[in-house]
Amino acid sequence: MSGVLAILEARDGAWHRTSLETAAAAKKLAAALNAPVSAAVIGEAPSPLGGGPDRVWTVRHDLLLRYTSDAFTAALEQLVHRASPDVVLLPHTYQVRDFAPKLATRFGQTLISDCTGFRVENQAIVFVRQLFQGKLSADVRPSGPGPVFASIQAGSFRAEEAGAGESPIEIFTPELDASTIRTTPGEPFRESARAVDLTAADIIVSVGRGIRERENIAIVEELAQALGAELAASRPICDNGWLPMERQVGSSGQTVAPKLYIAVGISGAIQHLVGMKGSRAIVAINKDPDAPIFEVADYGIAGDLFEVVPALVEAVRKARG
Ligand SMILES: Cc1cc2nc3c(=O)[nH]c(=O)nc-3n(C[C@H](O)[C@H](O)[C@H](O)COP(=O)(O)OP(=O)(O)OC[C@H]3O[C@@H](n4cnc5c(N)ncnc54)[C@H](O)[C@@H]3O)c2cc1C
Repeated sequence: MSGVLAILEARDGAWHRTSLETAAAAKKLAAALNAPVSAAVIGEAPSPLGGGPDRVWTVRHDLLLRYTSDAFTAALEQLVHRASPDVVLLPHTYQVRDFAPKLATRFGQTLISDCTGFRVENQAIVFVRQLFQGKLSADVRPSGPGPVFASIQAGSFRAEEAGAGESPIEIFTPELDASTIRTTPGEPFRESARAVDLTAADIIVSVGRGIRERENIAIVEELAQALGAELAASRPICDNGWLPMERQVGSSGQTVAPKLYIAVGISGAIQHLVGMKGSRAIVAINKDPDAPIFEVADYGIAGDLFEVVPALVEAVRKARG
C-alpha cells in the first residue's frame, strides 16, 4: 500500500493533540495526492482516529513499552517497509525530534522538520518551513527515491479538520533484539497537574512584556473578566513570576486554539505564535505597527495598550449591559 502514513503518538490513553493535527494534515495531503491514508501508533490506539484513515497500524512489542530511540527507529523502519508509503508525516514533538531524523536516514532521506504547511504542484509535494524565527518561509521540494519524511509544527493544522470515522486496526509486531538497544529508559517525565486548562477556554486574553510591570496586569485582567475569558501570557511574564507558568502560551507552554485570542503587548515571536496561531480569531494590540503578531492577527489595533485596553473594557461592559 502506498499513499500517506501518519505516525502518531498517544499517551495516557489519549491521542497527543499534535497527533490529531498531523492526522488532519495527512488526510488533507492524501486528498490532494488522490492517495490512500493510513496511520500508525506505537502501543494501543486510544480511540478511533479522526478522519477515519484506511487503516491504523498498532505497533506492539515488549521492547516498545518505554521509549528508546533505537527500538522505536527499528520498529518503525520495519513498519514503513511493510506499509510502503510515499510520504510519512509525524507530529513535531520532542520524541519525534529524537528518533525521526534517524528513521528518515535509514531510507536515504532527510527529515523535513517542523513544516507549517504544504501544497501539491503537478503531483509533487512542496513543504513549507519557517526560517530565521519565522521571518522567512522556505519551500522544500523532496527529492530522491524512497518515502518522504516530514514533521508537522504544532498548531499548523486543525485537529477538527480530520473529521470523524472508524478505521480497521491492524496489529504489527516488529522483530526487535534487546542487545541492539543502547539506552535504558528511566521513569517517564510527568508534567505536574495543571490547575488551569487553557485549551478548554473559548476566549483568551494574553498579556506580554508590553505591560511593563506586574501591577499593570490588573488592567488586562479586567478585560478578561469583562469578556469571561481566561488570562494567559507570553513567556517573559511567567518567567518573571507575574503569572503562574501554567498560563504560558507557546512552544514551552500550552498550545491553545480558542474562538478568540486577544494578544496584548505581545510581539509575536515564533515560540509564542506556535502556541496560539490555530485560534479562530486573533486580535492584536501593540504599539508597534510592524510587530510580527500583526501577521497572524485577524484584527489589529496599533496603539498603546494602556489607552486601548481600558477603552475596550468600557465598550464590552456597555455592550453586555
Ligand atoms: C526555547 C525557547 C522557548 C520559548 N518558549 C516560549 C513560549 O512558550 N511562549 C512565549 O511566549 N515565548 C517563548 N519564548 C520566548 C520568545 O522567543 C519571546 O522572547 C517572547 O515570546 C517575547 O514575549 P513578548 O512578546 O511578551 O515580549 P517582547 O518580545 O518584548 O514584546 C513586547 C511587545 O509589546 C509591545 N509594547 C510595548 N509597550 C506597549 C504598549 N504600551 N502598548 C502596546 N504594546 C506595547 C512592543 O511593541 C512589543 O512588540 C521561548 C524562547 C525560546 C528560546
